[in-house]
Amino acid sequence: MSEIVLETEGLTKYYGDSLAVDHLDLEIPRGCICGFVGRNGAGKTTAIKLMLGLLEPTAGSSRLLGCDSSALTPAIRQRIGYVTEGHRLFRWMSIAGLEKFQRAFFPKQWDDKFFTDMIEYFDLPKKKKIKHLSNGQRAQVSLALALAPNPELLIMDDPTLGLDAAIRRQFLEGMIGLIMREGRTVLFSSHILGDVERVSERIVVIDKGILRAYCSLEQFQEAVKKVIFTFADSVPNEVNIDGLLHCKRIEKQLELTLVGTDDEQIAEWAKSAGAENHTIVKMSLEDQFIEFTAPANQKRLFKWEER
Ligand code: ATP
Repeated sequence: MSEIVLETEGLTKYYGDSLAVDHLDLEIPRGCICGFVGRNGAGKTTAIKLMLGLLEPTAGSSRLLGCDSSALTPAIRQRIGYVTEGHRLFRWMSIAGLEKFQRAFFPKQWDDKFFTDMIEYFDLPKKKKIKHLSNGQRAQVSLALALAPNPELLIMDDPTLGLDAAIRRQFLEGMIGLIMREGRTVLFSSHILGDVERVSERIVVIDKGILRAYCSLEQFQEAVKKVIFTFADSVPNEVNIDGLLHCKRIEKQLELTLVGTDDEQIAEWAKSAGAENHTIVKMSLEDQFIEFTAPANQKRLFKWEER
């Protein structure tokens, strides 16, 4: 079994009376790129801050690289890269100044060539001040600063927020560049499901602080499906099938969104309900995510683990 580099156990956070993260249990193995998704206010930033020891949990715990998040030593912190939402950087500094500043925290592991290559790849002048860069360029500098110390574990909170499609792709390629270095692990939150789909092997879905799914991307994509049943006469009033997320009636057709229901169960249900035929429709990851986290489906229903 591969080494677990990020682990949370019953991780819980209340802000006053308001529950932001609810008993989150996660185990992320070394070498994995993991997409962290959830609607606005789902608890992603809070969970990330808890993992990094920047917030104190109300209950539960988390461990990064085997060290409790509440007691991360400087030596462990040096092995972790963190890219924050909004890319907060000293605005008055130049890229070169920030490089020097950041390098001082990582005297042994800073990779000058990698940083310079990335800055050149993004076509950024090192002399330019952060305040004179666009949002996208600031994101690129953030990524280069986070990657240059060659972190074993990279945690990023919505790193591509506000970036255009081409820059997002560059950014993601930079991330893949990191993972190509052996044994590196990435957890990144994003609202852009296309990005998650492009680079992630695993996916974490949270909703109202609750873990709704943690599995391989492939498992998630196979599990959530839309099926259209056609009936000769009327559409049945009651639909009783395992994994039902959503049901829509359109004249003589019934459109069901299902999770974890296998094709055999679907065929059996079609037969028992008297459907003339049924078609399984391919869904995009974005559609799957929207259906899976729709307000009507907010029970703690489904969770898959890699076997
Ligand atoms: P988004 O995708 O919109 O950035 P998120 O998934 O990162 O959202 P969080 O920022 O973790 O969500 O917020 C989770 C919940 O906790 C929300 O209901 C939010 O309003 C609340 N919250 C976050 N920070 C605080 C705070 N400092 N004080 C009180 N409530 C907070």
